[in-house]
Amino acid sequence: QSETAENITITVALGDGIGPEITQATLSILAAAGARITPEFIDIGERVYLAGHSSGIHPAAWDTLRRNKVFLKGPITTPSGSGYKSLNVTIRKSLGLYANVRPCISYAPFVSTLHPSMDVVIIRENEEDLYAGIEHRQTDEVYQCLKLITRPGCEKIIRYAFEYARSHGRQKVTCMVKDNIMKMTDGLFYKVFQEIAPDYPDIKTERFIIDIGSAKLATRPAQFDVIVTLNLYGDIISDIAAEMTGSVGLAGSANIGDHVAMFEAIHGSAPDIAEQGIANPSGMILSAVMMLIHLRQADIATQIHNAWLTTIEEGIHTSDLQGSQSQQIVGTAAFAEAVIAR
Ligand code: ATP
Ligand code: MG
Repeated sequence: QSETAENITITVALGDGIGPEITQATLSILAAAGARITPEFIDIGERVYLAGHSSGIHPAAWDTLRRNKVFLKGPITTPSGSGYKSLNVTIRKSLGLYANVRPCISYAPFVSTLHPSMDVVIIRENEEDLYAGIEHRQTDEVYQCLKLITRPGCEKIIRYAFEYARSHGRQKVTCMVKDNIMKMTDGLFYKVFQEIAPDYPDIKTERFIIDIGSAKLATRPAQFDVIVTLNLYGDIISDIAAEMTGSVGLAGSANIGDHVAMFEAIHGSAPDIAEQGIANPSGMILSAVMMLIHLRQADIATQIHNAWLTTIEEGIHTSDLQGSQSQQIVGTAAFAEAVIAR
């Protein structure tokens, strides 16, 4: 792939809670590395909800998102109480972000984990399934949620998973479904998987029923490479997998659509540690690395990724990580400085 030389305008939201701290830390690293980007900031989340926009976003922000096409997003807080719609779901659906890509990688022995050789990428369908938001009350005592699976939706996510495996030098794609029970919906997903797999003879394939598959993932994660699955299963197993690597603060993610892509840490806004300067910015930093690869700035992505790995390997950690004995605990800003120095 050729690399872009011109500066690209991206949309950035600092977010709520620890969002501003970890996003500023990440932007400082991007600037120091010479990333060819110009941030354009939008305000989303708590303040916007409380100002009376029940979706948590100003109408004008959509224009910015659609124009810039690449979005680096800090975590946001949805105020508790009814009437507030989850902005994450709204953004994914409105911008057609059909693939949620989440690498879950262990950094043993530098970060303690029970699963030192884990290196799994979970690719979750992001728009359909029980998340289509089609719920009904049938009677006072009976409620219904509709599971929606479409052939085009399956084709898109499964082809994306195989293309991802091929372009990232991965060997195997595992499909996880519950098609022994949901023969039509999950059955379609696996049928499409079998139809598309022959186009990728260089990639091994495998199928697991989601229950035993996730049990295997929890005990023998090293057996897995790329996993493609439906929205709800993907939501659950990607949180478990990220936690198994050592900290929820370590993982980044990409939300990919045909026109727009969004990059965000997998964790929430962590209000319990906000404004203390102790949050781990790693999930956001690794999301930014994925963003740079998407922007064809692999040179800068590699530089930041290596500097981040060196920082972790040298035991310079935020307090959420259990590391080796020679660990030096630093705050968010000092961690970013350490990455920049390397
Ligand atoms: P949400 O509903 O927004 O996903 P959540 O309830 O899943 O939020 P998080 O905000 O992800 O919760 O936080 C879960 C726990 O992990 C909290 O104790 C939080 O302090 C911790 N945590 C999350 N992110 C980080 C981080 N970047 N650095 C350190 N600790 C973190
Ligand atoms: Mg959460």
